[in-house]
Amino acid sequence: MTSRTDIPSPRSTDPDPVAGDRVYVARRERSWGRRLRWGRRAVQASMVGLIGWQVIRSFLGEESSAEGLCPFGGFETLWTLVTTGQYVRHSHPASLVLALGVIALAVFARGFFCGWLCPFGAVQEWLHASARAVADRIPPLRRLRHRLAQAGSRPLWRRVDRVLRLGRWAVLVWAVGGAAVTGTMVFRDADPWNALISVAEFELSLAFAVLLATFLLALVVDRPFCRYACPLGAVQSIAAKASPVAVQRDASACLGCDLCNEACPMAIPVNTRTRVTDSACNGCLECVAACPSRDALGVTFALPGLTRR
Ligand code: SF4
Ligand code: SF4
Repeated sequence: MTSRTDIPSPRSTDPDPVAGDRVYVARRERSWGRRLRWGRRAVQASMVGLIGWQVIRSFLGEESSAEGLCPFGGFETLWTLVTTGQYVRHSHPASLVLALGVIALAVFARGFFCGWLCPFGAVQEWLHASARAVADRIPPLRRLRHRLAQAGSRPLWRRVDRVLRLGRWAVLVWAVGGAAVTGTMVFRDADPWNALISVAEFELSLAFAVLLATFLLALVVDRPFCRYACPLGAVQSIAAKASPVAVQRDASACLGCDLCNEACPMAIPVNTRTRVTDSACNGCLECVAACPSRDALGVTFALPGLTRR
């Protein structure tokens, strides 16, 4: 996992490099990060394949419901059952089981579901990566991408981004509140995932408009629906408050290269954290895979609330 020779860090504390006394940081082999990335992609591809298979089976008229594999429907049903004692129309028993599984997973492994298992997160990620790869080969698009990246790091956009991220909570309140009041899954009509799995029965609807907007935004922003609108991500981040698992950064081994920040699909400033407990963290470990230092970033266990961020 480690290269045999430790390479001097650009963070050397030595005012005179010739005199020695530099900080040496053990490096990780690049193949380690690549294996981690491809391992995650393989898991995501399996999940997309599984859902795709369910969609095909339901089109063929077999007993199968891809919609039943959406855990958020389970949350709406649970909330309505608890608050009104009624069962939500169109809900599927499988989504209830999945909802409980996602909560248990969030308590144990934080955002693992979003980062590794959610097929809609994977589709957005792949779209963004493909758009980026194409743009990097076409000079005018490459320049545009760099300009957008620069604009994205300005304080004004960061403030806008912070406000937009509250959208997840607004959608959550609307979805579970609406389900409890009306007894129907109000979110279903705006759910881009629902639109994607019923793409063969295309009809103009709010859900298709949200899906289209998500795909267009994904060309320039990584995981836009996860960042700004996903109610499931919001529920998970509540459960994740109790999680003992998180990405931990050792500042003494950090090279200050910012590669972790660039790799993070949720735009978390990883290199300013000691422990990444941000509610947006989806546990994808892209930051860990990108980090060239052997000891700077890793996943550790610690009791929640007892470590510095
Ligand atoms: S902080 Fe790391 S694990 Fe969390 S979302 Fe960003 S890249 Fe993924
Ligand atoms: S990738 Fe991030 S944590 Fe790793 S050395 Fe660079 S700045 Fe530090």
